[in-house]
Amino acid sequence: MKRYGMVIDTLKCIGCGDCVVACKTENKVPEGLCRDWIVEEVKGEYPHLQMEYRSERCNHCLHPLCVYACPTGASHIKKGTNITLVHPELCTGCKACIAACPYDARFVMPQGYVSKCTFCDHRLEKGQLPACVSVCPTHCMYFGDLNDPLSEVSQLLKRRKWKVLAPEAGTKPQVYYLT
Ligand code: SF4
Ligand code: SF4
Ligand code: SF4
Repeated sequence: MKRYGMVIDTLKCIGCGDCVVACKTENKVPEGLCRDWIVEEVKGEYPHLQMEYRSERCNHCLHPLCVYACPTGASHIKKGTNITLVHPELCTGCKACIAACPYDARFVMPQGYVSKCTFCDHRLEKGQLPACVSVCPTHCMYFGDLNDPLSEVSQLLKRRKWKVLAPEAGTKPQVYYLT
């Protein structure tokens, strides 16, 4: 099984938003909606303050509460991976998955079905990196298989300090932030 993960270096991210623009373009995300977004957080205590920029999206959790909550099977895990996806034709727009996700990663499309980051599954199938990863001007985003101990993402998590968002939610998120 592939355990796809994204590793984002918060020390290199400048909050430029190119990842957000790339995702909108690649995935034709309608105006006013987004699959990824930038969070700005002030860390530390005066006078030693530091600004952390984080590019956030669906965490493709190993325990996806969204999938467990979905009554129709529209929200599902792609076989052989941890990528969580939505079958639009099975989605009734009930929003149970939106309520279940601790990361606010999902939204309703104008057509009435729920959508979110797919880890650019369509690009992975062609051997390409996710659009957001491929455009980052500071190269602060990495993507790969965390079940492969030799992958760049595995090596980075071995070498560097990292965190995940809301670990207390118990979802086992697979987007990691180097700190
Ligand atoms: Fe589901 Fe939310 Fe986890 Fe994505 S971040 S897999 S939408 S629970
Ligand atoms: Fe499932 Fe769609 Fe309801 Fe979400 S909104 S729980 S994907 S049927
Ligand atoms: Fe958007 Fe693809 Fe990046 Fe997910 S992996 S935020 S869908 S560009």
